[in-house]
Amino acid sequence: MIFNRLRNSLRRAVTTGGLEASRMMQKAGLMTGARGIGAIFTLHHVRPRIDKEFAPNAHLEVTPEFLDAALTQLTSDGYRFLALSDLPAYLAAGDFSQPVAIFTLDDGYRNNVEHAQPVFTRHRVPFTLFVTGGFTDKTHTLWWETLAELLGNNSEITFDFGKGERLVPLHSSAERQAAFDRFASHIATGDEAQAVEALNRAARRYRVDPDLIVERLTLHATELQTLLLNPLASLGGHTISHRALARLTEDEALGEITGSLDSIEAITGQRPTTFAYPYGDHRAGEREYRLARQVGVAVAVTTHPGVLTGDVTEELTALPRISLNGYYQTPETVSALASGIPFRLRKI
Ligand SMILES: [Zn+2]
Repeated sequence: MIFNRLRNSLRRAVTTGGLEASRMMQKAGLMTGARGIGAIFTLHHVRPRIDKEFAPNAHLEVTPEFLDAALTQLTSDGYRFLALSDLPAYLAAGDFSQPVAIFTLDDGYRNNVEHAQPVFTRHRVPFTLFVTGGFTDKTHTLWWETLAELLGNNSEITFDFGKGERLVPLHSSAERQAAFDRFASHIATGDEAQAVEALNRAARRYRVDPDLIVERLTLHATELQTLLLNPLASLGGHTISHRALARLTEDEALGEITGSLDSIEAITGQRPTTFAYPYGDHRAGEREYRLARQVGVAVAVTTHPGVLTGDVTEELTALPRISLNGYYQTPETVSALASGIPFRLRKI
């Protein structure tokens, strides 16, 4: 768990280092040609900031004010906003004279409608919500949210990580973060469904209700229908259970992808052509990219950082995205990230 934290803070430091360098390069006029043809952005929660002592998911959260500033910045940087589902046609047309910015929001949070939608509407920016079928119908839970609440509410708990019931100390922020990392790696390495179910059972013992959390945080089918009355909004698939697809059998992974497209089609009457892999990192790979293509997904996105190249060989079911997250909420950062330079520097 300590390694996870170290790795995360290193990753953050490297990205921040890249940001600093790219700002300097921007100032020196070395930006030209580095940004590819544009970028796809990832958001999760968009809501006013609530300061909490223990906020392990803070990186998944931006404020509406930041989103507003980011859109203003991208507009003044000369970006044109595009819906994700329009990307194949845009690439086929081959006119890349103006860079494009595409906005996506993962998981289907209610605050996306409440706090992000008005901002997108004001700027006339299309946006795609990647909806997790099991969150929409409340048959599955958000383990990272359940975990944050369970660990934040208690000074110690007991849990069986596989070697019997053990005491997990939660007296300080450091202990809570260490526990969060331990649970996260337990979920990422064991049977994900079983590990999440065990977490849910533990949470209920400590009066944290995982079902209430998914109910409170995520949109219902009727809310999705209402959202789609806004012509700027569209929906994409994000599986049913939000499990790491690469760790499932091919049949299970296929079922997760098609299941999410089916569930959205049942709600909206339209089959989505876009999809986002849960977690989006190494927990999806070539097999999943192929499965997505196979079932008619036109555009699928990862969370591998990077910009769009416009290259004809670009894999449309494995596109990189730029995460706009809680670590660096300034418009200059958005400019720098969209430039693609930080990602190039990371590879050096
Ligand atoms: Zn997700």
